[in-house]
Amino acid sequence: MKDVNIREEAGKLNAQLVEWRRHLHAHPELGFDTVETAAFVVERLGEMGVTEIRTGVAKNGVAAVIRGDLPGKVLGMRADMDALPVREETGLPFASTVDGRMHACGHDAHTAMLLGAARLLTAHRDKLKGAVKLIFQPSEETGSGAPAMIADGVLENPKVDAFIGLHTGNFWTGVDAGEIGYSNGPLMAAADMFTITVTGKGGHGATPHRTIDPIAIGCQIYTTLQTIVSREISPLAPAVLTIGTFQSGSAGNIVPPDCVMKGTLRALTAETRKELQDRIRGIVEGVASAMRGSASVEFHYGPPPTTNAPEMTAKLLRAAGAVVGPEHVREVDEPTMGGEDMAFFLEKAPGVFFFHPSTFGGGRDYPHHHPKFDLNEDVLWTGTGTMAQFALTWQDD
Ligand SMILES: [Zn+2]
Ligand SMILES: [Zn+2]
Repeated sequence: MKDVNIREEAGKLNAQLVEWRRHLHAHPELGFDTVETAAFVVERLGEMGVTEIRTGVAKNGVAAVIRGDLPGKVLGMRADMDALPVREETGLPFASTVDGRMHACGHDAHTAMLLGAARLLTAHRDKLKGAVKLIFQPSEETGSGAPAMIADGVLENPKVDAFIGLHTGNFWTGVDAGEIGYSNGPLMAAADMFTITVTGKGGHGATPHRTIDPIAIGCQIYTTLQTIVSREISPLAPAVLTIGTFQSGSAGNIVPPDCVMKGTLRALTAETRKELQDRIRGIVEGVASAMRGSASVEFHYGPPPTTNAPEMTAKLLRAAGAVVGPEHVREVDEPTMGGEDMAFFLEKAPGVFFFHPSTFGGGRDYPHHHPKFDLNEDVLWTGTGTMAQFALTWQDD
């Protein structure tokens, strides 16, 4: 790759990346309804001379192929495109033009950075082995966009052999803007939701002995569930079990017939994830039955843990080092218990998902999904550069 300087080319592209990101930021779309965003992507790709474009993948996803002049394998390069139902409060000149919707997770930047990588790669088809398949994905925030695209055949024709993707923002610590963060183990957690329904027997509040009180059962279930993480899962295995809603009843003198709780669980390994699920089911059913009622739990399975293939991580270190300098490629301090549906792609082929820190520092950084979330646009080029450099070099050995 002596005669191609991606670091320099990506740097020169930053103003363009900012322009694209601001346009997308001003026009956020939710879930699978990324109609305008997909159209914007297709238009930009067309300008770059990309002709092999499939639209309408899982409703509004886009898959585009850039073929290199040299023989080789196919790299799937993924960016998510969806925003969130958040009312923006940044006051930025390019703030959301749609009330109640905001790019509060940085997916606008992901889309812009992948377009930038496409721009660089179309200029270097003569150096590109095999092909890249650009995957612009809707509905990451629901955790359902990636599996929907897979079900719609995005990994076929041509078949994808490996993956790369990134998340920008301030999720992880240990790396600063301008650097690239990686993890040798899991980077993000499995994230499942669940609904517990407790069924008792309603009646008069003055005659509890003639009822089966679902609130009393629900409280015992809630309390006992807390012992899964504290008393059953290994203290060396990160796990989260949160009950976020607890609903029952209609009046102070009525024992209601049922009670519903909703929660989420997070784990960094498949084993811990299964253990959590099994024990939730056991406690829910056991406690309810011990108290004369019944209860069931329904799981809504989200993404598995996001775990990188070691050989792909090694290739990422090399590519990122060429762009930001090896001393600026750092392992993140610890994984996050947030979920990421990129994990569904990484189940299908080896790949690497990396962290692109776009922090401001100095107290200016708000959490992801916050109405004031923003990101440092000066470093967009490092994400674009790392992706493009990876695509040009991952088959070198
Ligand atoms: Zn998010
Ligand atoms: Zn996100």
